Amino acid sequence: MSRIEGARLPVCRTCGVQYGAAREDCPICLDERQYLPADGQQWTTLHDLRVAGHRGRIEEEGPGVIGVGAAPSFAVGQRALLIRSPHGNVLWDCFGYLDDDLVREVESLGGVSAVAVSHPHFYGAMTEWGRVFGAPVYVHEADREWVGRPDPVVEFWSGETRAIAPDLTLVNAGTHFEGGSVLHWSGDPDGRGALFSGDIFGVVADTRWLTFMYSFPNYIPERPRTIRRAIALMERFAFDRVYGAFWGRVVVADGSAALRRSAERYLRFALDDGPVDGSAEGTVGGPVDGSIGGSVGGSLGGPAGGAAGEGGAASGPGDALGDGS
Ligand SMILES: [Zn+2]
Repeated sequence: MSRIEGARLPVCRTCGVQYGAAREDCPICLDERQYLPADGQQWTTLHDLRVAGHRGRIEEEGPGVIGVGAAPSFAVGQRALLIRSPHGNVLWDCFGYLDDDLVREVESLGGVSAVAVSHPHFYGAMTEWGRVFGAPVYVHEADREWVGRPDPVVEFWSGETRAIAPDLTLVNAGTHFEGGSVLHWSGDPDGRGALFSGDIFGVVADTRWLTFMYSFPNYIPERPRTIRRAIALMERFAFDRVYGAFWGRVVVADGSAALRRSAERYLRFALDDGPVDGSAEGTVGGPVDGSIGGSVGGSLGGPAGGAAGEGGAASGPGDALGDGS
């Protein structure tokens, strides 16, 4: 008998999020950070995905960290991570798939003691995972409205940080989504600390670097003040590796410095509103000295001021410009 109680519940084909009841639209995909395909909203189910040939995929991603995803992948294509803490396995982030074979495989690895998710695009079938493994699913309170399959296993947390185990701390970085969260692991086998960032801080193609986007698919950059708040919050955490959202997207060394360096680079470009006539020179090779000494140094060190997501989606470029240096 299957342990997947929600095998016939609707799963959005574009974002992979499972809902608790049939509905017409997917609010997560209607948001300006996501999109609908040209042919409109489409639904599937865990059952139909299995029938169509999807299976679980399990592969090591780093010391004490096992990637768990679907093959072939679908929707956004992210993989989750099973963090093998001595205090129990934590599933970091989720995706829109689960079948009985995958339940057995994950059980053979020690099961799941807790699920924690970074933001709505990676909710996937998190409620199903939490119910099957009898594990709480940690979601930041600020993103409560996006939970598509409410359930007692979903545990909302609030504030800037929340320890979910003696060596694991959630941090509400607030980039990408107001409740956007990352997870810090102080007890990784290397002893240097590890950060799980989803795409709250996105590990980019050059995996020595990260980026900060309000929307990845629609290329809407994150607001400088929101990034500054996040970087200030992260300063108390040390980490070497940074695990991004996709297979192989892992910063393997010097993660704390990579995050800070990446924020500085981002702000150097985002806040350079210098003279237009210099064309390429003005933009790239332009008054960089001034930016580094002025806006960037000042930006990162500056007031963490506005809370994440303050003003929400409606806050236009005016905020970024007004807040520049
Ligand atoms: Zn969707």
